Amino acid sequence: MGARWASRDGDRRIGRRALLVGGAAVAAGTAVLARDELSGLWWRAPGVAKPRKEGEVDYAGARWVAASDSNWRRADRPDDYGIDMVIVHVTQGSFAGAVRAFQNPAHQAATHYIVGRDGRVTQMIRELDVAYHAGNRSYNERSIGIEHEGFVDRPEDFTDAMYAASARLTAGICARYDIPVDREHIIGHVEVPGTDHTDPGPHWDWDRYLRLVRRAATKPA
Ligand SMILES: [Zn+2]
Repeated sequence: MGARWASRDGDRRIGRRALLVGGAAVAAGTAVLARDELSGLWWRAPGVAKPRKEGEVDYAGARWVAASDSNWRRADRPDDYGIDMVIVHVTQGSFAGAVRAFQNPAHQAATHYIVGRDGRVTQMIRELDVAYHAGNRSYNERSIGIEHEGFVDRPEDFTDAMYAASARLTAGICARYDIPVDREHIIGHVEVPGTDHTDPGPHWDWDRYLRLVRRAATKPA
């Protein structure tokens, strides 16, 4: 957190204290009722971090492998930063190579998810946290990053299984955060302002991908 954020955080802290005092008064009177009523929402109380469990994933089809915590920043999205974007990447290497890179503290970058050519999905950073993947602070704070195993100049790497799995994953993200399924909100790394990255490249079939995301979105989870 730089000085830029200090005053905003300061304001928020005052609000938290006021709210917590009010909440304590209510809880003292009707503790059981309050706990039941709040059980699904208690983490929305300011100053209370959402619960995390080691190995827990945000997408049921994903397997968890933790990224090094040098490659992401702890946050409390979507409460502190709204999430309104999915950013598509291509690894320029193997699935295993990407997992190793994101586990490496010196890498200084990682996405939330990696999708393999065979359609497997690994989650390495929780969606509530900010992953360093876009090379742009505000885009990192507002987005979920998905890597796809392969090379931008090898269209055969983008398999049916990969498109289908990634589309299901993105459909779930869009549903969770109410993100419109369109090219304004589902973008490539290449479209992030200030980036020198070209992924996912000209062979990534955006029409097909968006069609699959929309189709997955209409199916019950
Ligand atoms: Zn990228």
